[in-house]
Order: sequence, then structure tokens, then C-alpha cells
Amino acid sequence: MVLSCREIRRQLSDYIDDDISAGTRQAFDAHLLRCRHCAAFVDGTRNILALIADERMFPLPAGFSERLHIRLQRELGTS
Ligand SMILES: [Zn+2]
Repeated sequence: MVLSCREIRRQLSDYIDDDISAGTRQAFDAHLLRCRHCAAFVDGTRNILALIADERMFPLPAGFSERLHIRLQRELGTS
């Protein structure tokens, strides 16, 4: 299985939540090894989520992850 950069970004939240099949995870990891752009995208998202998890132990407000995605895409120059 080969994932495109678009598919990586579409499935990013499932990947971080560990809500994907083993095969998809394998393809995801393989993509991240050879695509620095997506690796930076995943790292950035993980870092932000880790910061949030440290400081706030309650559920994220509605729409938060959508705004996070928009902000990340802007900062990393992806679309
Ligand atoms: Zn990529």
C-alpha cells in the first residue's frame, strides 16, 4: 500500500489516535521515512497535542482540531 501526501494528511488524526489498521500504519510510517514534509507535519501536530495534554485534562472544544489543521497547514506551507 502506498499513501499519497494528501492521504497522509487526511488520516493524520486517526494515525495519532492509533485508530488505523496495521497495514495503514505501516504505509504511514514508510511514507514518513521518505517524506520530510509529512514527517514535519506529524511531528508538529504531535508536539502541539502533547502540550495541550500536559496543560489541560479536559476534552478539546468543538472545532479545535479543525482550526489546528488550518493553522498547521498555514505554518508548514501545505494545502
Ligand atoms: Zn508526504
